[in-house]
Amino acid sequence: MSGGAFLSEIFSSIQGEGPYIGMRQVFVRFLDCNLDCSYCDTENKRAVLRECRIEKEAGIGLFSYLPNPVSIDELEASLTALEGFDGLHHSISITGGEPLLQAEFIRGWLEAAKKRRAIYLETNGTLPEKLKSLIDKIDIISMDIKLPGTGAIAPQWEAHRSFLEIAAEREVFVKVVVSAATKDGELDHALEIIESVNAAIPLVIQAMTVDGRPDEGLSPRRIFDIQERASRRLKDVRIIPQTHKITGVL
Ligand code: SF4
Repeated sequence: MSGGAFLSEIFSSIQGEGPYIGMRQVFVRFLDCNLDCSYCDTENKRAVLRECRIEKEAGIGLFSYLPNPVSIDELEASLTALEGFDGLHHSISITGGEPLLQAEFIRGWLEAAKKRRAIYLETNGTLPEKLKSLIDKIDIISMDIKLPGTGAIAPQWEAHRSFLEIAAEREVFVKVVVSAATKDGELDHALEIIESVNAAIPLVIQAMTVDGRPDEGLSPRRIFDIQERASRRLKDVRIIPQTHKITGVL
């Protein structure tokens, strides 16, 4: 096992996306990503961020700093200080970047840690072998299916399919970011993958934001069209925007 994890921040906030929106979580944000989406809004390069900032107490917005890599003991001590009273946090959100790039650390950490809360994994859904290595430690999976024309990245279809087949062993939902550039053909490809695994897996459609604002070229009618197209094949299709920018929380 590696000596530690490359992290950008540990903090307490509310989940801003998807069906668990509004739930209070402790976030552990991992550095680095294997993709380079055009709409990415997280600073995720370990070469740039050499320290991890850690909120000193839940919700106060004051931070201490630890040099990377962060050890399991340091991470556990930070979580103990942040968690507050029983019942404050619903779960621990493992996020990024792409946290599964550091799956070996995460597995070691979750084996060593006492079971604190439910473990909620936010992932781009492209590293199925990494997921398989720790699926037994994860309770809830929020996975993306990336539409290549929307994020200006290479297609990830087969990786997404394999990933969702493994993720379906747990509670899972899929998030798809759409924009004015989204084509029906790539949307259909994503729908086929979900339908082939289980049409009851919830799909969250999230309109792309640029600098905190909705994509101006994406009309409300087009968003409804996308939901209606998806609802012909899937049982649970929701339109849920990102809310961090609205509430102003971390
Ligand atoms: S997968 Fe997520 S973290 Fe990685 S580049 Fe895309 S938006 Fe950014």
